[in-house]
Amino acid sequence: MNTIEATLQSKRETAKQYVKKIYNATEQRNPHETEFLQAVKEIVDSLIPVLARQPQYMKSGILERLLEPEKVISFRVPWVDDQGNVQVNRGYRVQFNSALGPYKGGLRFHPSVNASIVKFLGFEQIFKNSLTGQPIGGGKGGSDFDPKGKSDMEIMRFCQSFMTELYQHIGPETDVPAGDTGVNAREIGYMFGQYKKLRGAFEAGVLTGKGLEYGGSLARKEATGYGLVYFVREMMKDNDLDFNGSNVIVSGSGNVSIYAMEKAMEFGAKVVACSDSNGCIYDENGINLDTVKELKEEDNERISAYAEKHPHAQYLEDCNEIWSIPCDIALPCATQNEIDGKTAETLLTNGVKVVGEGANMPSTIEAIDMYLDNTILFAPAKAANAGGVAVSALEMAQNSSKLMWSFEKVDARLQEIMKDIYQNSMQAASDYGTPGNLAAGANIAGFVKVADAMIEQGVI
Ligand code: GLU
Repeated sequence: MNTIEATLQSKRETAKQYVKKIYNATEQRNPHETEFLQAVKEIVDSLIPVLARQPQYMKSGILERLLEPEKVISFRVPWVDDQGNVQVNRGYRVQFNSALGPYKGGLRFHPSVNASIVKFLGFEQIFKNSLTGQPIGGGKGGSDFDPKGKSDMEIMRFCQSFMTELYQHIGPETDVPAGDTGVNAREIGYMFGQYKKLRGAFEAGVLTGKGLEYGGSLARKEATGYGLVYFVREMMKDNDLDFNGSNVIVSGSGNVSIYAMEKAMEFGAKVVACSDSNGCIYDENGINLDTVKELKEEDNERISAYAEKHPHAQYLEDCNEIWSIPCDIALPCATQNEIDGKTAETLLTNGVKVVGEGANMPSTIEAIDMYLDNTILFAPAKAANAGGVAVSALEMAQNSSKLMWSFEKVDARLQEIMKDIYQNSMQAASDYGTPGNLAAGANIAGFVKVADAMIEQGVI
């Protein structure tokens, strides 16, 4: 080993020890926050080469600061159900980082929501939002409220109560929530109405994912799913692969999943399976998307009803079974940790070539390591599902200029943004010694911009 190599190795060793120390401290400070710690580990490990080359990030305490949310709000959400009973849920908003712009990120309504889930989502959002190139910081929120089986009026009363507390913490220049699991245009509408009433002003830019009549953006609904497919197409193009003629599996059947299926089909793929939290359907002729849209966007039905309408399709009563169906391209669009090491092994045995993440953190660290070790083309969530929040930023731009862009204009910007995210992530991966590793590249490219902005803004 020559002197240059020895110096490099020693710098790398220092960065490695530093990251280990930071991670251990985070673990001690946030015990039991499993999902948050998983998201932290995945990111900080990939930053070792950056810290080795730019020790100023260690000196300025960037990671120490990044790992502590700027503000965490937790609040009681009381509401009255249709039987007249008082119900109480817990609401959250984590305002994680505002170095690049107002906090931005969705609200999730799901019984699994707790501090760890909101923090993992908010932490990931910082890097994702940075990658979009738009002026948005990172935040996330939600509640352990379960929208399943609730009447429209119960949903409305819950959303109003949730906003009655949240409204004083958000605003077009401070924090701009949107949807996530369990929060779509209906919930955004009820929350926007309550915000408007409490504020006494029509501030369109306070929420994104709004209805088109009152400040929503065309193509916002489609953006996460379409963006995912645009990103994966870019990655495949570089590797002489194509959606055309491929067999695709898309887990979930919510907003992300539906529009990922739509775009993949438009590009000539055959989507053979999708799912919900109860089970999955396998349709070897190719999923009929009109049926899925009808069931999920209109009738609020379970996906099992698909098999009643298309008797040749198979219904499997376990949503994880979806990953035992062979495919060329797997697009996990359901939820966090839906693919663990064992599931990844099944995918590999069945010959999967590409994994593109539409959900947030759908693969465990073990699963990601398996994709990378087996040279599967892997599009990580932070980069691949950033299209939703990117179009949210375009919605904010339309709101502040009081203009409404055409579908074509928004879609064209989305395609450019996804291409840029792909290229910037690839560039960062090769600059820092892991060519082709988009997981590392996305973390690095997202991090560097936030870190530089934090340094320029001083210790605050
Ligand atoms: N919930 C989405 C995400 O995970 C969108 C957030 C937004 O539009 O603010 O990125």
